[in-house]
Amino acid sequence: MKDTHLLQVALGVVAPWRVTASEFDVSAKRLDIRLDFTAGSRFACPHCGAAQCPVHDTDTSSWRHLNFFQHEAYLHARVPRVRCEHCGVRKIGVPWARPGSGFTLLFEAYLMAMVSAMPVAAAERLVNEHDTRLWRVLHHYVDAARERQDASEVTHVAIDETAARRGHDYITLFVDIDQARVLFATEGKDAATIASFANDLAAHQGRVEQISEVSIDMSPAFIKGTAESLPQASVTFDRFHVMKIVNQAVDQVRRAEQRTQTVLKGTRYIWLRNPATLSDRQLALLQSMPARTLKTARAYQLKLGFQELYQQATPEVAAAYLARWHFWATHSRLPPIIEAARTIRAHRAGILRWFNSHIANGIIEGINSLVQAAKAKARGYRSTRNLIAMVYLLAGKLDLQLPA
Ligand SMILES: [Zn+2]
Repeated sequence: MKDTHLLQVALGVVAPWRVTASEFDVSAKRLDIRLDFTAGSRFACPHCGAAQCPVHDTDTSSWRHLNFFQHEAYLHARVPRVRCEHCGVRKIGVPWARPGSGFTLLFEAYLMAMVSAMPVAAAERLVNEHDTRLWRVLHHYVDAARERQDASEVTHVAIDETAARRGHDYITLFVDIDQARVLFATEGKDAATIASFANDLAAHQGRVEQISEVSIDMSPAFIKGTAESLPQASVTFDRFHVMKIVNQAVDQVRRAEQRTQTVLKGTRYIWLRNPATLSDRQLALLQSMPARTLKTARAYQLKLGFQELYQQATPEVAAAYLARWHFWATHSRLPPIIEAARTIRAHRAGILRWFNSHIANGIIEGINSLVQAAKAKARGYRSTRNLIAMVYLLAGKLDLQLPA
C-alpha cells in the first residue's frame, strides 16, 4: 500500500478528492498531506446547488488535522471556485472542513472535547494553538447549537446573577428548571436582562405567557423585570437568598456584640451554620456559649426558627408560622434582625409561594456548580462573551452535533 493511499483511506477522502503527496518532516515534527481533485471534475454550486458546474480557478488552503502520533498534521488542497450559471463564481466547500475554518472537522471535534474537559488555557498548550482560535471554534458550535435549541416546553425558570470577574461585571443566568439547563445568559443584572430573556425565549419557540413560575432573589431589578417581561409568572423568592438575609442579620449582631464580648472571638462561622453541620469541636464551642446573655445567641435562635419555616406542611400553616416568627423577630430588640424581618415581611408572598411552586434549590445549586466550573475552565477568558459561551457549553445541555 502506498503511503498516499493509506492516508487517503485513513482520512476517509472520497472521489473526486484524493491524496497526492505527503511530506513528513521529523525535525519539524509535522506531517503535511496534499490533496487534489481529479482534473476535469465538476462540482455543485455551493449557493444554489446547481450540479456539474465547471471549475473557474482554484485557491490553495490549509487545515490543521488530528495529530499523526506526536506530530502535527496539516492538509493542503487547491479548492475550486466554480462558475455557476445563476450565481457566478463561487468557492466550493470541502467535505473535511467548515468554510473559513483553518481546522478540519475532526480536529474541531477534538478541540471541543478538550475544552469541555479542561481549562481552555491547558487545551491551548496541549494543541499549541492560540486560544483565540480555540474560542472561535467553541463559539461556532455553541452558537449553532443554540440556534437549534427548543424552548417551547419551558414553564418554570430560575433567574440568578453571578460575578463574571471579581467584583466587576455580572452575568444573569436563566435556568429551565424542568430540564435543569441554562437557557440563556447575558451581561448585567438589571431589569433589562429579563426583557432580553423574553426576546430570546420567543426566538426559540418559547412563549412568555407560558412562563408560570419564576425563582429570583429579592433584588428590586429582578422583581421589576419579572413583572414587566414575564407578566404571567408567579414569583418565588429563592430560599437560599432569603436565608442569606437572615444570616447576614445574625452576623451583624455578632460583629457589634463582639466588641464587648470577647467570648465571641473566632465564632463567626458557627453562627452561620446549622448545628447539624458543625464539627464536634464547633458544636462543643457553641454549647459552651452563655446562650441566655448573648444577643448573638438570641439572633441565632431566630435564624433557626426562620429555617423551620420551610419544614411547614402546607401554605396555610407556613403563613401562620411566618406571622408568628415575624412577631418574635420584631420584638427581639435586635435591630439587624428587626430590619431583616421587615424585608421578609415585605416579600412575604414570594417567600410563601415556595410552598406551592416547590422550586428546588438543588437544581439551581447544581447549575451554579457547573457555572463555577465554567469560570475555572474559562480562566483568562478575555471577555464576558467567552464566559457565557463556556456556560452554555457546560450547563446548556446543547446538542452540539459534532462531526464524528
Ligand atoms: Zn448557483
